[in-house]
Amino acid sequence: MQKKLVTLAFAALCLNTGAFALSFNFTTSGSVPTNVQNAFAQAGQRWSDLFSDNFTVNVTIGWQALPTGVLGAAGSSSQNVSLSTLRTAMMNDATSGDDTTAVNSLGLGSSINFLTNHNSTNSNVYLDNNGSTNNTTLNINTANAKALGISTTATTDASITFSSSFSWDFDPTNGITSGQYDLVGVAAHEIGHALGFTSGVDGLDTANGSQSEDSRLLKTLDLFRYSNRGGFGLQRDFVADNNAKFFSINNGATLGSQFSRGINLGDGNQASHWRDNSGIGIMDPTAAPGELMVISANDIQAFDVIGYNLKAVPEPFSMVGLGVAALAIARRKRKNS
Ligand SMILES: [Zn+2]
Repeated sequence: MQKKLVTLAFAALCLNTGAFALSFNFTTSGSVPTNVQNAFAQAGQRWSDLFSDNFTVNVTIGWQALPTGVLGAAGSSSQNVSLSTLRTAMMNDATSGDDTTAVNSLGLGSSINFLTNHNSTNSNVYLDNNGSTNNTTLNINTANAKALGISTTATTDASITFSSSFSWDFDPTNGITSGQYDLVGVAAHEIGHALGFTSGVDGLDTANGSQSEDSRLLKTLDLFRYSNRGGFGLQRDFVADNNAKFFSINNGATLGSQFSRGINLGDGNQASHWRDNSGIGIMDPTAAPGELMVISANDIQAFDVIGYNLKAVPEPFSMVGLGVAALAIARRKRKNS
């Protein structure tokens, strides 16, 4: 009986995943070795294996010398969208219980409130509830827009360049060789940024305080960035400082994994990541030599709620332990953005 159930579940999985798939169109910029192109194809496939969204992500890939200590760099196309439009799209795209919880946490108004700081309105932390542009409008990655069925005119969703100066391991299937970096894993990380794992806090953190509060807009993931700090309690948090920021899909009722807090005013890592060295997932800000990088349940949940639709996957998290074990190795900075 037990065996039969397993067989049925497998059949259902095949039916479920066959119809639609997220796909990638990689275009080379300059000379990119074939084994690097193959690594990108494998990295894209990892995300395609997880999500059923039926669209193509257009990524330009490069291979060249980058600054010391930078493994790779990614830039993503983005566009502004109103909170109302985004929420409606998320509602129409909701396929999981977490999606429903996440959409409900946004309320019904055309404006949202959050803590912020480091702008011309106030250098200190304050509750921004004035309904101005940054309360009504977000800036989301074009790949994230596509996932939500929001129209976009972008022809390229991201450009990712890898450093040719490092020693890379091109084959993660037999582990990552000591002293080398996991090229497929780092490519999967950079693609994760392109898909929408990113924070507007990085712009706030790296600009000077003379910017207006409306010059920095939330990304989709920032809707689920929360803190619990003295004087304010549980709040959506768009603050550049070194206070703890948590992933939460239910208005802070449950505080999940922590995010990084910013290069300048935070913890030294870009806010567009999980907190460093915490074994949370592939969107950790650093990679170590010899470390096998694996997409985790935490990663998947974040992509689910920002607009990606999960395929039925029976045991997706069995390799997380390997990633955690490897974190003990001395780490170095991966890149930025
Ligand atoms: Zn990153």
